Amino acid sequence: MDTTAPFAEAIEEFKKAGSESTKLCFQCGKCDVYCPWNRVRPFSIRKIIREATFGLTEIEGEDIWRCTTCGSCPAICPRGVGQIEIGVALRRFAAEYGMFPESVSAVRNASASLVAEGNPLSGSRQSRADWAEGLAVKPFEEGMEMLYFVGCYFSYDPRLKKVAVATANILNKAGIDFGILGSKESCCGESIRKTGGEQEFRTLAKENIKTFIDHGVKRILVSSPHCYHTFVNEYPEFMVHFEVVHISQLITELIRDGRLELKGELPKKVTFHDPCYLGRHNGIYDEPREVLNTIDGVQLIEMKESRNNSLCCGGGGGRIWMETPKEERFSDIRVQQAVATGAEIMVTSCPYCITNFEESRLSLEGDDVLEIRDITEMVNEVI
Ligand code: SF4
Ligand code: SF4
Repeated sequence: MDTTAPFAEAIEEFKKAGSESTKLCFQCGKCDVYCPWNRVRPFSIRKIIREATFGLTEIEGEDIWRCTTCGSCPAICPRGVGQIEIGVALRRFAAEYGMFPESVSAVRNASASLVAEGNPLSGSRQSRADWAEGLAVKPFEEGMEMLYFVGCYFSYDPRLKKVAVATANILNKAGIDFGILGSKESCCGESIRKTGGEQEFRTLAKENIKTFIDHGVKRILVSSPHCYHTFVNEYPEFMVHFEVVHISQLITELIRDGRLELKGELPKKVTFHDPCYLGRHNGIYDEPREVLNTIDGVQLIEMKESRNNSLCCGGGGGRIWMETPKEERFSDIRVQQAVATGAEIMVTSCPYCITNFEESRLSLEGDDVLEIRDITEMVNEVI
């Protein structure tokens, strides 16, 4: 077995990450019961934690790269073990030694693109705002009501650009004075950090924080729960606090305040998928449901596993960049769960969830069985 032992650095890495919590683990195995991996293949975070306690983890294999940081096992662990932090510390160690198995090697490309262009998708920095061409979207200026921090996938991915456009339409309809940073916006850094790229994360975070401060940003709107999580829970490590709002929260606020009127009707059966980083990690469960329930004609049906029991799409923790064999995709199971409710539309609010579900949807019999939509695409149709 390839092990980190007897490297003193490994032990130091775990300590730095606050991962001494490995010692709290009494090996009950509850984490493995809740981990979505065990629905598609054997995987034991319990075993990884046990081995990490002694600095004996196999860091050349694929297992340390599996955790999607879905947040299910930390939520149920009776001993408060930091499974995600331990996993990230191991990845940092593997990344430092350049140990990326074949299925994980795309992380290197994402990392290189982040360093060169500020996004993981190999898009040029200059084309970051191309999605907004021809729309009433201004560059952000001090004094504006809010900054719309678009995020990488919504800026570059052809499917997800439609969500950015829908968002801009909603903001304009509500009369919000907003702007974007365009080429001055960089990736929030959430996923690269989870793949062990701590230095890359810190560089991106500092770039963004400097840009926010230089532009006098006070309130930030995000489309991605991953940007939300990073700005709210991780950027404060740099001693800064910005007011951050996720689009599902903002739409709820605009409807409640009478600034946005939903006029149209959408007579559809709909189910909502809670993204891990919106729900389990940040407790935002009610707002997207409130928005959907406000739309005339929408019949909201819950899936078997919803809210804090939501099944991960498989894209967190940098897994969106890694290869997952078809038979091991959680998103396939999730799409089946959505179909089982009788829903015509599966709504969510995360770029990774939409990407994975759009792909899984293709394996359903008949591609019109289930539509995948962002919450903004629902709202945009009725304003
Ligand atoms: S649930 Fe917690 S205590 Fe139990 S095996 Fe997993 S990490 Fe250890
Ligand atoms: S956070 Fe989620 S994916 Fe990671 S080990 Fe825990 S249950 Fe499994």
